[in-house]
Amino acid sequence: MGNDAADHDQFSEKLRVPEALTFDDVLLRPAESRVEPDAADVSTRVSRTVELGMPILSAAMDTVTESGMAIGMAREGGLGVLHRNMDVDQMVEQIQQVKQAHELVIRRENVVTAAPDTTVEEVDAMMSDHGVSGAPVVDDDDTVLGIISATDIRPYLEVGERDAVAEAMTDEVITANDGVSPREALELMYEHKIERVPIVDAGDGLVGLITMAGVLERREYQQAARDSNGRLRVGAAVGPFELERAEQADAAGVDVVFIDCAHAHNLNVLESAQDITESIEADVVVGNVGTREAAEACVGFADGLKVGIGPGSICTTRVVSGAGMPQITAVSEVADVAAAHDIPVIADGGIRYSGDAIKAIAAGADAVMLGSYFAGTDEAPGRVITMNGKKYKQYRGMGSVGAMKSGGGGRYLKDDDDGEDFVPEGVEAATPYKGTLASELHQLVGGMRSGMGYVGAETIAAVKSDAAFVRVSAAGQTEGHPHDVMITDEAPNYSPEQ
Ligand code: 5GP
Repeated sequence: MGNDAADHDQFSEKLRVPEALTFDDVLLRPAESRVEPDAADVSTRVSRTVELGMPILSAAMDTVTESGMAIGMAREGGLGVLHRNMDVDQMVEQIQQVKQAHELVIRRENVVTAAPDTTVEEVDAMMSDHGVSGAPVVDDDDTVLGIISATDIRPYLEVGERDAVAEAMTDEVITANDGVSPREALELMYEHKIERVPIVDAGDGLVGLITMAGVLERREYQQAARDSNGRLRVGAAVGPFELERAEQADAAGVDVVFIDCAHAHNLNVLESAQDITESIEADVVVGNVGTREAAEACVGFADGLKVGIGPGSICTTRVVSGAGMPQITAVSEVADVAAAHDIPVIADGGIRYSGDAIKAIAAGADAVMLGSYFAGTDEAPGRVITMNGKKYKQYRGMGSVGAMKSGGGGRYLKDDDDGEDFVPEGVEAATPYKGTLASELHQLVGGMRSGMGYVGAETIAAVKSDAAFVRVSAAGQTEGHPHDVMITDEAPNYSPEQ
């Protein structure tokens, strides 16, 4: 009898549902504080071993992150995650571009050199072809004989002489050994009034070059996210079944591999993701997940967890599939599990304002990933387009028809899709053009710092552990946005259209 009653209730019972909340449902409760926003420490960890100066990642989307964005993100202290709508060779090349961008020592294979018997005219043409203003002169064994600069050859060119480089070069070369610090290199350059220092081995063989421009660039970006060799950090997305892509990314020096999947709590995905973690050196962040159970399935092997089932601005997963998890609840469920295993959590998608980002941290994330916020910047791929006198850049979901057609878009592609029968889970859109990434990051991180001031948390870890939420009513939400006024001047960090 009793069982019968339970059976009869089985469907109505399903509607006794738990509540799931998202950004607009909550606010951070202001608390006693001595934290001045500028003094707040926003450094964090995105995976077991990778630390960042700011808790921000740019999304692995073909309208957001290629090498230009990844370089920009790492310079500011964040991390760009290269998308995977490109072939493996292109991905390797882009990883290398990030790794070589303002490397202190330009490695031998990338140093433009001159031979002593080339003419000054030839070397002049070669330097302008490569966009450099000087070059070490080396013999056939790569021994450094001298250094030639545009200034050295100018007098020869003026009088139309065709002398060999050996005549024009400076042969008293100031060199340094590998391992020289940026400061020592700069001191050498100032002392000898030179712009470049060849790095040589014990036998005077050329192994690299340090330039003044390179040293100054490094000084400008002191907060940059760098690996243990001082190179900029970069992430790369790989499909859950793309072991080869993951291995190639690893070999190219990627810092973090992101398993890029719409639903990582798929057992085939998990098995393959685990194989990837076992085959490569780099940390592996697994995603996307959105529930406690999914997190539990990953914590045995993942170096980080990425959360987001359908919160993205261009995403239609929830309306197309009927499935999803409001992001604040999703982050908190995953973070409960991850915290017990000391694994960082990344909140991916749905962040429109800096306030959303710091709410995600308070819900348990160590860092946030954004797509639309950065898609309108100069560093994102794609051109600026003008519509009705306003400037935009293209922004599209990786599960949109356009992205799937142009490169596989494996994240949402079903095995039997032949291109005609896509069931997209994203849309193609345009986003307002925003200018430089640096200014967007300044607003984003500045707003997060303000939040840290309001809740009295000096570090990301303190926001996670101490910040409390209040629930907001619909009236409270309206109250929280500008109201009863007509905005006359756009603020750099608020747009009512968002
Ligand atoms: P946004 O910051 O624009 O709100 O969200 C960016 C995130 O949306 C990405 O990092 C990714 O996780 C997710 N995303 C990207 N493309 C698609 C898509 O086509 N469909 C869905 N469901 N999510 C997407």
